[in-house]
Amino acid sequence: MPNILVTGGAGYIGSHTVHQLLKRGYAVTVLDDLSTGFRDAVAEGHLHICSLFDTEQVRQLLVRQKIDAVIHFASFIAVGESTKEPEKYFTNNVSGSIALFTAMSQAGVDKLVFSSTAAVYGNPVSTPIPETAAIQPVNAYGETKVMVERVLAWLDQLRGLRSVKLRYFNACGANPAGGLSERHVPETHLIPLMLKAVVTGQPMTIFGTDYPTPDGTCIRDYIHVDDLAKAHIVAIEHLLAGGASEAFNVGTGSGCSVREVLAAVEKVTGQPVPHSFGPRREGDPAELVADSTKLRTQLGWTPEFTDLEGIVASAWPSEQLRWA
Ligand code: UDP
Repeated sequence: MPNILVTGGAGYIGSHTVHQLLKRGYAVTVLDDLSTGFRDAVAEGHLHICSLFDTEQVRQLLVRQKIDAVIHFASFIAVGESTKEPEKYFTNNVSGSIALFTAMSQAGVDKLVFSSTAAVYGNPVSTPIPETAAIQPVNAYGETKVMVERVLAWLDQLRGLRSVKLRYFNACGANPAGGLSERHVPETHLIPLMLKAVVTGQPMTIFGTDYPTPDGTCIRDYIHVDDLAKAHIVAIEHLLAGGASEAFNVGTGSGCSVREVLAAVEKVTGQPVPHSFGPRREGDPAELVADSTKLRTQLGWTPEFTDLEGIVASAWPSEQLRWA
């Protein structure tokens, strides 16, 4: 089986993807600096603690482990923080990625799956959003991903580095059977924050009720982390089979408002979600829903989790432990 290097494999989506790669028999090496990831999210013997910026160590790891392809998750991901500390985001997400690509080029590794984001589309003119929609991010986080996508286009042309860019919509849920969960510090994501409010009784804040949506709250496409992980598997298979560079949206294709998420969380937990209403959060588009026809038709991907309650239910056991 091919050898895959997973950067950021100790993080949320990374650890779920590593779990699926191992289940399918891939040889997996995880590279993570543990700045936001967790040692115990990676199965024994797979973790190499190293910075992406240490090009020589990364090159040696790629050569030593005979890596065939890389899945690159390592990245800062908080939209709000990226608007306050843009330098931190451009340095880590863009320069860190370029350092990785340099090591890959030196080691002769020419296949990459890259974690991109729906944030590359900014405020789309219409939804669902196809991959051909205008690229016009409205926050620094989204811009970092656009910049890396552009670097990858050049590296395909100039270095023969083939890449699949996966533009994630809203990752959520967990794989309790795999002992995996979402553990961002600080937590900024909606579903874990609502579950936290249920456990602690401390109200969460709904950011904005005056959006141009039917109930006034933002609409997002919530995609289960295991379905996202599966998208990485089909993307790696595509590249290993000689497939060309592509960008794909990864979402369910249906949107839920913040109020609808609240109703699902109340249904699953059987308890009210303590909440208050606050102003809009800077950089939040009103509606982001994926058109993922391309991923479905070209790579045969289909999401298994299609209803929000199932997604929330998968996260509930670990979130109860986390906030107790
Ligand atoms: N949101 C909210 N309160 C929170 C966190 C998020 O109302 O405490 C809203 C946010 O404005 C967005 C949606 O929930 O409309 C999803 O936000 P999240 O941070 O989970 O993901 P993002 O869309 O930023 O990737």
